[in-house]
Amino acid sequence: MDSSQLQQADLLIEARWIVPVAPRGAVLHDHAVVVRDGRIAALLPCATARAQWQAAQVRKLPRHALIPGLVNSHGHTPMSLLRGIADDLPLQTWLEDHVWPLENRLIGPEFVRDGALLAIGEMIRGGTTCFCDMYFFPDVVAECVAEAGMRAQLCSPILEFPSVWATSAEEYLRKARQLCERFREHPRIQLAFGPHAPYTVGDSLLRATAAQAAELEAPIHMHVHETATEVAEALRDLGQRPLARLAGFGLLGPRFQCVHATQLLDAEIELLASTGASVMHCPESNLKLASGACRVAELLAVGVNVALGTDGAASNNDLDMFGEMRTAALLGKLVANDAAALPAPVALEMATLNGARALGIDGHAGSIEVGKCADLTAVRLDCFNSSPQYDVCSHLVYAAQSSQVSDVWCAGRALLENGHLQTIDTAGVLATAKDWQQRVLATKRTAARQTAEAE
Ligand SMILES: [Zn+2]
Repeated sequence: MDSSQLQQADLLIEARWIVPVAPRGAVLHDHAVVVRDGRIAALLPCATARAQWQAAQVRKLPRHALIPGLVNSHGHTPMSLLRGIADDLPLQTWLEDHVWPLENRLIGPEFVRDGALLAIGEMIRGGTTCFCDMYFFPDVVAECVAEAGMRAQLCSPILEFPSVWATSAEEYLRKARQLCERFREHPRIQLAFGPHAPYTVGDSLLRATAAQAAELEAPIHMHVHETATEVAEALRDLGQRPLARLAGFGLLGPRFQCVHATQLLDAEIELLASTGASVMHCPESNLKLASGACRVAELLAVGVNVALGTDGAASNNDLDMFGEMRTAALLGKLVANDAAALPAPVALEMATLNGARALGIDGHAGSIEVGKCADLTAVRLDCFNSSPQYDVCSHLVYAAQSSQVSDVWCAGRALLENGHLQTIDTAGVLATAKDWQQRVLATKRTAARQTAEAE
C-alpha cells in the first residue's frame, strides 16, 4: 500500500500495554491508539496501525501502560491553597473553627483562580483529565479549566445562608441556572446544581433545586451522610435521616451524585440502587476526618455506580487518584471483610468509567473505545516499584505512583509531555501559591486574635 492510500490521523500513540477499562480487566499488548479530531479513531495492534494510518505525530511508549484519563469525581479545587492549614480534627470542628473562618476572609475570584490552577496542575501531573468541583465562583474555575484544556463538571454552590457568591436562595438558584445554560454547548465543561449538604440547605430550597435541575436536566451534586453526627442530628431535629428527606423532595435519580455516603442502612443501599443515583466515594477524606467508611462492595453488588474522588486538598491532603485507587481498594476489602472485594480492575473502573458515568459523560469519556474522546494517561512501569510486570492492572492500583505518569492528553490535546505541563505555567503557579501562604497565615493570625477578643 503506498502512502496515498493510508488514512490520515493527527496522532498515533503506540504503547507496550493498553488498559482500555472496557471491557473490565482487558490488557492489550503492543497496541496503538489512533487519534483524529480529538477522538479515538482506531484501537489496534501497532503493526496494523502503521500499515493503515499515517499520523502527523507519533508517540512511542515502549515502557508504559496507556489508560483512560482519570476522573476525580469530587473536590473543591480552590481549597488547595489551604492544604495543611488545619489537620487532625473532626469534620465539624475542622469546618466551623478553621476552614470557614479563613474562607470568609479570603474567598474571591483571585483566591479561586489561583487555587484552581494549583489544583489543576497537580491533577494533570497525576494523570487526571476530568474532575468534578464544588466551590464558590464556578465561573472562574471554568475559565481555568478552559485554559488548561481539561474536562470538568463544576457545581454551582447552593446554601441556606448568604456568602460571597450569593445573598439569597433566589440568587443561588438564578446563578446555578444561568451557568447551566451558559455552558450547555461547551465540549468539555458542564455545570451542575451543588446543594452543599442536607444540614446547610433547608426544605424549600431543596424542593426548588430539585425542580429547577429536573427542568434543565442538570446533575445534582451533594455531600450526603458524610458522618454519623450528620445523620444523628437530622434524626433529632427533623425526625428523618437525610437520604429519606432528599428522596421525599424527589432529588434522587440517575442525575443525583451522592458524595461520601459513609452511613448507609441496607434499605438506603436499595434506595440508591432503585433510583439510579451515583455515589462519589472519597476514602482518604473519610479516613482523615474519621467520618466513617462507605460500603462500596455492597453498593457495587446491587448495581450502584460508585465513582472515586479525592475531596479537597484541605482534607486529603493531595489530589492523587493513584493514591485514592489504592486506598479505595484496601479500605473496600477491610469494610467488606473480604480480600477479594474491590479487585484492581474494579478500582481502576471506579477511577475512570464510573466517574464518567456519574457525570453522565460516559458516552464520550471514561474508557479507551473507538469514537470516544482521546482522554488518555501514560504511566511508566519500568520503575523499581513496578518491576517485574506480571499483572498491569495490579501495578496500576497497588504499586504505581502518580509520579510515574509521563504524558496526558485530553480530547487529543497534550496537557503533559514527558512530565512537563503544557498548558499550565508551573513556575508561575508555584510562586503564586507561595504568595498565598503569607496571606493565609496573616489571615489566620487576625482571625485568631478577633476570636480571642470576642471571648
Ligand atoms: Zn467535599
